[in-house]
Amino acid sequence: MKFTLQKVCPKTGARAGLLETEHGVIETPVFMPVATKGSVRGIPWETIKELGAQIVLANTYHLHIRPGDKLIQKAGGLHKWSNWSGPFLTDSGGFQVFSFARRGKAKIMDSGVTFKDDLEGKMHFMGPKESMEIQKNLGSDIVMAFDHCPPADATREGIDYSVNLTTEWTKQCMDYELQSHQSLFPIVQGGRFEDLRHKSLKELVKLDAPGYALGGVSVGESREEVDRIVQTMANELPSNKPRYLMGVGTPRDLLMSVTSGMDMFDCILPTRLSRHGSFFRKNPEGWKTESVTQKEFTEDFNNPIMKNCQCPTCSQFSRAYIKHLFKRSEITVYYYIAVHNLYTLINLTKNMRKAILEDRFVEFIKSNGILGESSTEKEYNLVNT
Ligand SMILES: [Zn+2]
Repeated sequence: MKFTLQKVCPKTGARAGLLETEHGVIETPVFMPVATKGSVRGIPWETIKELGAQIVLANTYHLHIRPGDKLIQKAGGLHKWSNWSGPFLTDSGGFQVFSFARRGKAKIMDSGVTFKDDLEGKMHFMGPKESMEIQKNLGSDIVMAFDHCPPADATREGIDYSVNLTTEWTKQCMDYELQSHQSLFPIVQGGRFEDLRHKSLKELVKLDAPGYALGGVSVGESREEVDRIVQTMANELPSNKPRYLMGVGTPRDLLMSVTSGMDMFDCILPTRLSRHGSFFRKNPEGWKTESVTQKEFTEDFNNPIMKNCQCPTCSQFSRAYIKHLFKRSEITVYYYIAVHNLYTLINLTKNMRKAILEDRFVEFIKSNGILGESSTEKEYNLVNT
């Protein structure tokens, strides 16, 4: 894997780059749709391609439990099994197995986590070696290191323990021999404690991995806390390597995080929101998440759910029609809304990239929402310093 930094916005630190993998070149900043069980929920692969997705994320835990990573290996790996020929990133499985611990269904040890899966009720063990073995079988292009994920409200001692264990586990992951096309990204932990974040980052950067991720930033912290963590940590990550912010993905959060110098993003929101009738919409005062059931949509036959959106849904259907489909639980509507949401995030990152390359990034974000009427003081400061 090779990363080339093409341009950095001198005012904000926003970056445009190229990430070359064996399954394709990824232009950054990039939004990665989530294919939890090997498919982006409810969206055919041909649509994912048409929307311009360059890389997708698959979940190690889910695929390990069913159909099993060994079966996927037999099929020739994730790419052949799913027929998605572009790059795949797999998470480490850590996030899911630690969520079992939060529900009292797992035992955490210094060597890994023992847990009972919620599908078949079988006992499993996952540690750094097991996570690497599963991801090797899956054959993804970017492999995430197995990290210790503390809950957002963990004590300082708890988070310090998690930072130390994450470093130890990452070293074991780095020693594991993956397939030749696979690259390992460590995950910086440290919760809301700045000094622990710095400690985690410093220890992991020493390992000289091909890319780095910020983890544990969307597990219940406030929007301000997430902004603060991303702002302070992003530019301490090596500038010549891709920087991945895990689990973050509203238009507003992407604008803020690219502004802070992050390159890669994933989030389940575009498809999850669609099942609740929610969609991303740009307003004069910034980006919002709104409902298709709003009163004004009932008889609006002339406008799409978001004016001026070029997505396949907004190019074809009125607000009144989409609202009706949702109210009647007609299953095509979940697809239509998800297409709008995915298009929004994929296109927003593409447009940010273009603006960075053309030296007009600050103008772009000023006209794209984070500097709208409801901007916080912090948002202004970030762009104006
Ligand atoms: Zn649209």
